[in-house]
Amino acid sequence: MPHLFRSLQELAPVTPGPLKYLKVYEYEKGAFPDVQLHFQWIPCYHCEKPACVDACPSGVLQKESKYGAVLVGDSDACTGCRMCYDACPYGVPVFASDDLDAKVQKCDMCIDRLEAEISRYAYCPAHPERWTLDL
Ligand code: SF4
Ligand code: SF4
Repeated sequence: MPHLFRSLQELAPVTPGPLKYLKVYEYEKGAFPDVQLHFQWIPCYHCEKPACVDACPSGVLQKESKYGAVLVGDSDACTGCRMCYDACPYGVPVFASDDLDAKVQKCDMCIDRLEAEISRYAYCPAHPERWTLDL
């Protein structure tokens, strides 16, 4: 595992920051002494019919056709209304602050890396099905 971690960081370094595009929740089941700790990760699912896209009155969020990624288009047009956040069943769209002029941000499926054809390397825990590591 240390080798895997080092390789991922070398291939696609991720800078820590306040915005979290992927949420991970933990919860317990059972009663002492038979207690289990579970983890549930919530990514953007890049929905086939994305509610966030339909909800945006400014046309900022768009679903592209090549990979099916739901992307932030013209972020300057974002008014910060949060209607996309309200519409998303998973609370995926995020904002850098509570200021009403903060622009929407979200997972972009690492589409630039897909286009650069380095997707065979693992880099995103939200899409483990793409993990075809060649270590
Ligand atoms: S932000 Fe929410 S509604 Fe939009 S594509 Fe992602 S999971 Fe679906
Ligand atoms: S916050 Fe921005 S992206 Fe979200 S619905 Fe409002 S204008 Fe659209």
